[in-house]
Amino acid sequence: MAKRNIVKMGDPLLRKICKPVECFDQKLWQLLDDMKETLDSAEGLGLAAPQVGMLKRVCIVEYDNKYYELINPVLIKSKGRCVDNEGCLSVEGFRGLVERPKAIDVEYFDRHGQKVALHAEGYFARVFLHEMDHLDGILFADKMTKKIMD
Ligand code: ZN
Repeated sequence: MAKRNIVKMGDPLLRKICKPVECFDQKLWQLLDDMKETLDSAEGLGLAAPQVGMLKRVCIVEYDNKYYELINPVLIKSKGRCVDNEGCLSVEGFRGLVERPKAIDVEYFDRHGQKVALHAEGYFARVFLHEMDHLDGILFADKMTKKIMD
């Protein structure tokens, strides 16, 4: 495993639409393992592949001592709205208030290509949505209604 550098806001890589994963192979597993190591050393809640310069629809989430690997995630359903504050490992110096759905249903594939369905609520749902936005070149800073300086 190897820690990778985190791409920062301003880099055009963070603005690209990522491509779906087609091969659930060793190369994907290496990327996932590297992302996990990078996330652990950065102490964030999630990390998306474009944040380490890979334009693939892959993201990882670590929440409530559980670890999730999302490949080709799709938002199936969302419910309600809520505002909370968010930060990002690619955005230095500030956080922001962002409105997002309160509850979501997502579908994705695990590292072996098995389909997974998941329901998430509250801040847990927020982390998923934040990471999935990265796959479409969207940052929380684009959506924030209030900037909070660190
Ligand atoms: Zn982020």
